[in-house]
Amino acid sequence: MAHQHRNTLSIDLRALKENFHKLEKLSSPSQVMPVLKANAYGLGAKEIAAELKESGATIIAVADLNEALDLRDLDLDILILGDIIPEEIPLAIRNNFILPIGSLESAQLISAHAGERRVFCHLVIDSGMGRLGIPAAQALEEFAEIAKLEKLHFDGVYTHFPVAYSDREFSLQQIEAFKDFLNQCPHTFKRIHIANSDGIHNIPEACQAPFNFVRTGLNLYGCFDLEGAQRVQLEPILTLASRLVRVRELNAGMSIGYGREWLLEKTTLVGTVALGYADGFPFNTKAYVLYQGHKCPVIGRISMDYITIDLSQCPNAKSGDAVLCLGDAIPVAKWAKWKGTITYEIICSLGQRIKRIYK
Ligand code: PLP
Repeated sequence: MAHQHRNTLSIDLRALKENFHKLEKLSSPSQVMPVLKANAYGLGAKEIAAELKESGATIIAVADLNEALDLRDLDLDILILGDIIPEEIPLAIRNNFILPIGSLESAQLISAHAGERRVFCHLVIDSGMGRLGIPAAQALEEFAEIAKLEKLHFDGVYTHFPVAYSDREFSLQQIEAFKDFLNQCPHTFKRIHIANSDGIHNIPEACQAPFNFVRTGLNLYGCFDLEGAQRVQLEPILTLASRLVRVRELNAGMSIGYGREWLLEKTTLVGTVALGYADGFPFNTKAYVLYQGHKCPVIGRISMDYITIDLSQCPNAKSGDAVLCLGDAIPVAKWAKWKGTITYEIICSLGQRIKRIYK
């Protein structure tokens, strides 16, 4: 008999494809460059990349060399977003990844390892993120030196929005700084990009010429970070289900969980669910799960492998039954609220022992 997994994260590849096409439409005339860093935000980069390639993606972005190597077999252009460290350079070049260039020093190092190859690169400009790249004010001067390195071929250039969700004015200033650079730079870049998911929604200028790509991750997965006006309805692609491992009636006065923080006031049908904070469940007693559509509040402290729930409304519940923990009816944003964090952190930290299933 096939081994059953207690916890499953179902990933809906049809919804992913829909989201990709909706985002393509919304970002038009720009094209969509899917961002698959951190194993596609924890959802499984290989499966997601394969689906997006079939949907028409021509280039994907990852954070580092190891992530790029994991996807090499897919035969797609792969842009590494984060700086390459010196010992990674030979392998990165041998695999024909598109490398970020965020300083003259890193350009010189990469060029020195190029041998007979031409290395495809994207220039990284820091227009306000303060993290990686050449500060916009010195980009022209520094790029003039970098461009002398003949082994480097500058396929693209990009910068990044830190506040596309909240500060349109600052984001427009970044666009202006980026355009100033492009207007004065003698090189013609094929791929020019600035927008992330929030940029697509809130800064439509970032999808228009001279920009011709958007880098999107969160929205592809059907998640939003903040509630508010979204310019398109996207489908959540993930559903997390767990199982009841025990269902018991416990007497009034009984305490539940570590710290004995919960005392039953009356006899209660209590379910133990096989999911805990090791799986990413928010360590917060205000959470709930759904059993056959009924909201069942978490009672007692969350443990590493278990939560306990009040099943009073579900007298027929029994061990082995499924409970819904995340999905259409319990969006990722809800967990983020419970945990006091961002949706990115929630999906990236769904535990590795949860079985991913692709549909
Ligand atoms: N571009 C860069 C440089 C990023 O670091 C990220 C993610 O953090 C993205 C694009 C994608 O962002 P989002 O998931 O908000 O679309």
